[in-house]
Amino acid sequence: VSQPAALFPGRSNSAGVEFGDRKALAALLSARDRGGVGGIEARCALSGITGRREVVRSPVDGAEIGAAHVLSAEEARQLVDEARRHVARAERIPARDRASALRCAADEMERRRGPLLALLAREGGKTLDDALAELREAVDFCRFYAGEAERLFAVPQVLPGPTGEDNRLVYRSRGVAVAISPWNFPLAIFTGQVAAALAAGNVVIAKPAEQTPLIAAEAIDILHSAGFPKEILYLAPGDGATGAALVSHPATALVAFTGSTETAFAINRALAARNAPIAPLIAETGGINAMIVDATALPEQVADDAVASAFRSAGQRCSALRLLFVQDDVADAMTRMIAGAARELTIGDPADPATDIGPVIDDGQLRMLKEHAERMAREQKVVYAGSVPGNLPGAGHWFAPHIVALDKPQALDKEVFGPILHIVRWKAGELDKVCEAIEATGYGLTLGIHSRIDETIRVVSERMTTGNIYVNRNIIGAVVGSQPFGGSGLSGTGPKAGGPNYLARFAREQVVSVNT
Ligand code: GLU
Repeated sequence: VSQPAALFPGRSNSAGVEFGDRKALAALLSARDRGGVGGIEARCALSGITGRREVVRSPVDGAEIGAAHVLSAEEARQLVDEARRHVARAERIPARDRASALRCAADEMERRRGPLLALLAREGGKTLDDALAELREAVDFCRFYAGEAERLFAVPQVLPGPTGEDNRLVYRSRGVAVAISPWNFPLAIFTGQVAAALAAGNVVIAKPAEQTPLIAAEAIDILHSAGFPKEILYLAPGDGATGAALVSHPATALVAFTGSTETAFAINRALAARNAPIAPLIAETGGINAMIVDATALPEQVADDAVASAFRSAGQRCSALRLLFVQDDVADAMTRMIAGAARELTIGDPADPATDIGPVIDDGQLRMLKEHAERMAREQKVVYAGSVPGNLPGAGHWFAPHIVALDKPQALDKEVFGPILHIVRWKAGELDKVCEAIEATGYGLTLGIHSRIDETIRVVSERMTTGNIYVNRNIIGAVVGSQPFGGSGLSGTGPKAGGPNYLARFAREQVVSVNT
């Protein structure tokens, strides 16, 4: 094989962004690296709000690739004050026009795929496969919510009533929507939240993660050029203080958040503490996601799916597999197979087509992963510890896959956001205890079941509260429209992104009853 292919493929419901020739794509990206993906300035673009300029560095090699103009708390408050003045204007844009602007944005994202993919690789540390999948997801979100805007908002719903009474339900915008997104899907989740809030007719303030403001600036530019006026869509580059000021403002009417459970709690408290109308929070947070494997499962498929779920995207997905429960009879063979597959993964520059695992996002994450691996080596049994190739840039944040055998599931007591898989054994007859242990984590984002016994699949699926359950496949890469995504319990509060109920939450219902 002359062209090494990375091991992880992607899937999408949109017409798709394709790059048949990965070498050509890699060449394009490295050319852009040298000339282009430097010098982007992510700023708020509202006169008088300048922010504090901070350099953005690539997780791949520490090179400076641009700068963000971080808003102070005071500037964030000013921004909400400005945004609220344009609420009526946003709502006057007909739903069909919002939908066509979103479709234009989707087309424009496909056209600007070069810079977007380069930014995903350089700023987000995404491999080519991950970057392509993420670009497709962002495009999918725009097209999906465009269709949903037409379905829900374009015509009123006529409701039943007695003769002489006309009842209609309409969706109205909420006002100022604040979208706070994570660094692990800096394009897809950022775009998804913003597209939904715009589709519902809101004025939107989008705060990207501190680590990934540049790709957010590019996405905002695309949405502006697709037709959304600057007065109804604002970028708010910032840190925790910026986000806190945005959500604490009394004019903020809705918050869509993806990130840590801890921050979701803080947002919930901040919203409740305001002397202002009750504002809904849509939160998609973390998980200690599990996969249950029984003795009837297909070993090769389990190995593939466990490796993809735990290590793809360097394990930096909320959906990623953390706890693999394997039935005793097959546990030794399965562990050997998974470790063998992990050994085949290539760690390196994400823009290289042969790379399976790029860097983790920053120093803080790297430190946390190293500390966890050390603790596991002291307290449990590390069965596989990958090593980082010596030729990678020293300033990059590299962490190789690890596999740890736990003596009990409770030994993993927090979400560890990176490529560390924990394996626990269970004995025939203990399926109930396994389910109990998973539920006891309090999280409920993704769950995998690998079994060829229909009854096991039915009993486990019915018993668990997990938001997304995947059977005999991997547990990552939810596809817009096919696998609406989001969890319950400590993993967040819905509705699910990319699903039929999402847009309605971004709007306010109003019923007009006329005595005719
Ligand atoms: N939707 C992504 C997936 O299914 C995960 C999103 C996240 O990590 O927040 O893999």
